[in-house]
Amino acid sequence: MHRSRPILAVRLSRWRATGLVVASALLAARIAADPNSADPKRYWDDVKALASPDMEGRGAGTKGIARAANLIEQRYRSLGLQPAGAKSFFQPFTVITGAKLNPGNRLDVEDGKSKQGLKLNQDFVPFSFSASGEVAGPMVFAGFGVTAPEFGYDDYAHLDVKDKIVVVLRYEPAGFAAKSGNGGLTQHSQLIAKAINARNHGAKAVILINGKLGDGEEDQLTRFGSVNGPENAGIVIVQAKNDAANAWFLATGKSIAEAQNQINSATTPASFTFPDKIQISLGVNIEKTRATVNNVLAYLPGKTDEYIIIGAHYDHLGYGNVDSLAPSQIGQIHPGADDNASGTAGVLELAHLLAPRKGQLQRGILFADFAGEELGLLGSAEWVKEPTLPLDKAVAMINMDMIGRIKDEKVFVGGTGTGATFKDLLDEEKSKFPFHIEYSASGYGASDHTSFVGKQIPVLFFFSGLHSDYHKPSDTWDKINAPDAAKLLDFIDDVALRIDSANERVAFVTVKEDQPGGQSASGGGGGYGPYFGSIPDFGQEENGVKFSDVRPGSPAAKAGFKAGDVLVQFGDKPIHNLYDFTDALRRSKVGDVVDVQVLRDGKPVNASVKLEQRK
Ligand SMILES: [Zn+2]
Repeated sequence: MHRSRPILAVRLSRWRATGLVVASALLAARIAADPNSADPKRYWDDVKALASPDMEGRGAGTKGIARAANLIEQRYRSLGLQPAGAKSFFQPFTVITGAKLNPGNRLDVEDGKSKQGLKLNQDFVPFSFSASGEVAGPMVFAGFGVTAPEFGYDDYAHLDVKDKIVVVLRYEPAGFAAKSGNGGLTQHSQLIAKAINARNHGAKAVILINGKLGDGEEDQLTRFGSVNGPENAGIVIVQAKNDAANAWFLATGKSIAEAQNQINSATTPASFTFPDKIQISLGVNIEKTRATVNNVLAYLPGKTDEYIIIGAHYDHLGYGNVDSLAPSQIGQIHPGADDNASGTAGVLELAHLLAPRKGQLQRGILFADFAGEELGLLGSAEWVKEPTLPLDKAVAMINMDMIGRIKDEKVFVGGTGTGATFKDLLDEEKSKFPFHIEYSASGYGASDHTSFVGKQIPVLFFFSGLHSDYHKPSDTWDKINAPDAAKLLDFIDDVALRIDSANERVAFVTVKEDQPGGQSASGGGGGYGPYFGSIPDFGQEENGVKFSDVRPGSPAAKAGFKAGDVLVQFGDKPIHNLYDFTDALRRSKVGDVVDVQVLRDGKPVNASVKLEQRK
């Protein structure tokens, strides 16, 4: 399961705190294996193998994920399935796994008398989403770096920052909490929001300082690579320690704390230009680290060329990355037993159940194990972009992501509205099983089925709920509820066979989402500004935001935008990535008419869009 990013609103709250599942009395009651039902012992052994230390948390770029891919491939071979990748069973593709600091990162300060170089990782550090480059020039203090018309507040008002380096404080003015009514920090406090705002005001670099510290708080630098952001925010951004920056402030007659107090006392900006004699020269040199990973694909032929996809992602967080929910344990293996050895072993188990039916099924089955899911649904995006079987013959996609923690027989099934017959079929089949099922019609969510619904393929998504070990080293194999997962696999097997044997292929239905879930920039989740209605393509590489789809009847659709368009301009804001788009949308209001430009087949297309209320 891909972790909620600023642009991804997973319905975490509904599934949070389901607590630990204790795999009690496991397997004890299991009688002799029935070849027509899932084997909890074999299933549990597969989860254990995939989540073993040898697999290194199946992080992109590790040897462990290659071992996992080999395990999956060997199983498919032993079951006599056909290779269905681009290279035998594999479909290789390249992902960005992180960033590293190359030589040449420096921050030099000249105060008219002497020149001083700050120490990397000690006095200053770049953020991993910073642009690389050399920047020099005068400095401007831009308060918290916030432009918040909804609070009548703008640190950049009457401030010329064009081609200058802005110094900004972490967080936001103290008065925002009361004004926003939610008590906590608003989105203006996010580092990426400060970077985008500075860039949109024409600044060429941002130096972030912690500012006044709370009791017991230390003036610490953020560890490089520990803050999520776009690949490149389009502006140089570094963090410097208060101690290093305070001298610049004192040259103007006030300390950092005094400047900050001045803002906070009246929630009024107190921006200023530093004296010309202080000159900053900044060099940032960041290299993105890349790795080749593989989707693993196997085919069971049917009587026709139509087929069903049964899939799960097999990658996880490796030794922990920005998506770890135990940041203090980054460096330890995040085994990802539930996320998603549980679904991967589920695909293997269904391959065991279905392989003996070779040539007997009405339609074929594509078993698909995706990589790159945790990095943004990249494996499934790659497959729908470069399908290894004809996309128009794909009848349905069944996705399993985190099915190993069934508790009190509760199961979540998403996508039930995307296939005309899905709901009836599920209702009929579930009578044979003990599950209490919660349905969601929407086919969008934080896992790989999203890539397929974007291609108008009906999807079903099986999920047993979030828990307190999610994205932590404690997501271990021993906590997997194998007996109930096996029952769920029998249920999924029945459902797949029903879809397979239907005379007519299941018709795709566009779900009209009254409670839109999924991507905010696409029209889901609250708190992300008005409704636009595009669905971003997570596998894109273009500059801008590529639409994998546009919701029917949405403002974007009414303006004539369609799948494949690449958004590059939204009002007066250039759009380089999803973060820019989310930021621009948040700055808009319901009823605004915005001039939007997209690239269609590389050519600009303009239209006005009237933004609507999220329903
Ligand atoms: Zn995950």
